[in-house]
Amino acid sequence: MTNFKDLNLPDDLLENIKSLGYEQMTPIQQASIPHILEGKDIIGKAKTGSGKTLAFALPLINKIKAKEQNPQALIIVPTRELSEQIAQELKKVARYKAGVKVITLYGGTSLTNQVASLEKGADILVGTPGRLLDHFSRETIELSEIKTLILDEADRMLDMGFADDILKIVSNLPKKRQNLLFSATYPDNISKLTSVILNNPINIEIESQEQHISIEERAFKVEERDKALIKTLQSFQPSLALIFCNTKVKTNEIADMLQERGFDTAVLNGDLEQYERQEMLLQFANGSLPIMVATDLAARGLDIEGIDIIINYDIPMKPQEYIHRIGRTGRADAKGLAVTLCDNYAIRKLEEVRPSLKVEDISSLRPNKNFYLQGVVGTLCIDGGKKKKVRAGDILGTLCKDIGIEPKHIGKINVYDRNSYVAIDKSVIKKAFNGLKNGKIKKRKFRVWWLD
Ligand code: ADP
Ligand code: MG
Repeated sequence: MTNFKDLNLPDDLLENIKSLGYEQMTPIQQASIPHILEGKDIIGKAKTGSGKTLAFALPLINKIKAKEQNPQALIIVPTRELSEQIAQELKKVARYKAGVKVITLYGGTSLTNQVASLEKGADILVGTPGRLLDHFSRETIELSEIKTLILDEADRMLDMGFADDILKIVSNLPKKRQNLLFSATYPDNISKLTSVILNNPINIEIESQEQHISIEERAFKVEERDKALIKTLQSFQPSLALIFCNTKVKTNEIADMLQERGFDTAVLNGDLEQYERQEMLLQFANGSLPIMVATDLAARGLDIEGIDIIINYDIPMKPQEYIHRIGRTGRADAKGLAVTLCDNYAIRKLEEVRPSLKVEDISSLRPNKNFYLQGVVGTLCIDGGKKKKVRAGDILGTLCKDIGIEPKHIGKINVYDRNSYVAIDKSVIKKAFNGLKNGKIKKRKFRVWWLD
């Protein structure tokens, strides 16, 4: 069964689903909706974007009797954004059924307004644990007729420390009810909720296929991000690290901070001239400046070999940006790590940007305090390139034969139209610099700079 119309449901409901643009069920919907319609308890695990909302919204709306006195369903979610999103989806699915009332209850907004709308009657309550508990203790919500309990994003609610609040609310619900729990992951402590709340649940797990297998993603709850950034670098000890900030100002600040701490750092943002950007990228890619702090300018398309960690100093604003950023590591099947540093704001934002990611405590990391990231090589710039018929082989020839630099001390050579760049081991860079300055390439003299 893959089509909604194969479900034994009223025609007007099916028509509405079709008008919303839904025809084929997603795997989690196929696997869960028939059981939910039978009244079973469900634990549904499927990755973000797999259609979990409709999986519970459709059977719920089908079951709801409009214009009952008291709420019949309670949906507990981690954030206000998710409350709104789910309420909107429920209203769309309920369009065919007159008079279904959905109310959202979350913190940060007026209690009095919420109480006023509750007094007019509601069929479905969607809210966050804290605010729901608040209403319950003020006796402004009536839970005695709740027949369906839904926990969405259960893993995230555990991360946010909501387990006890949830259990308190649930202990006040009628015993005879249907329970549905949805989650993108199964953290170990999820049994804290499942064992108490669910009754003989059916476990449904949809394997995800299209994840970046080679990128490990982690998120850490942090107090001070500067310290946490150093700690992250000293713990994972990367050889090439790309750090993202959301503003140009911040990239400069963080690059300066790292530089002061002995990390050789490049910065990339839209304030730089084109040639500066090119030089920054080049020094990052050739290892002279093994850290680069960048805005989202560097998030797309950039394909630099050997970036083994990307760090979100600032959390990206949108899921797409997150995907683009982390895609800078783990290229060409190499293993990569993506770390997001989360203050309180970012923990909430992560819900929207990467809901499947579990937030860990940064104190679990074991940094090596003596670790610094410094370029083993430096970069020399020569004022001759393709236009003057300079080739990489010519530069290599001069360095090895004329100046006596060993090939193993010579890194990447990049030849552009007007300039060429060569990475040289710092132990011999002075010798190479003087040699090039005083010597000749293809029997011609060139000017040479030492970039830093
Ligand atoms: P999840 O909660 O699993 O992360 P959502 O319920 O938010 O995922 O659904 C993700 C997107 O997929 C939404 O935009 C939703 O409208 C869409 N969607 C859900 N079910 C279907 C379906 N059967 N056909 C087409 N699109 C769907
Ligand atoms: Mg969801």
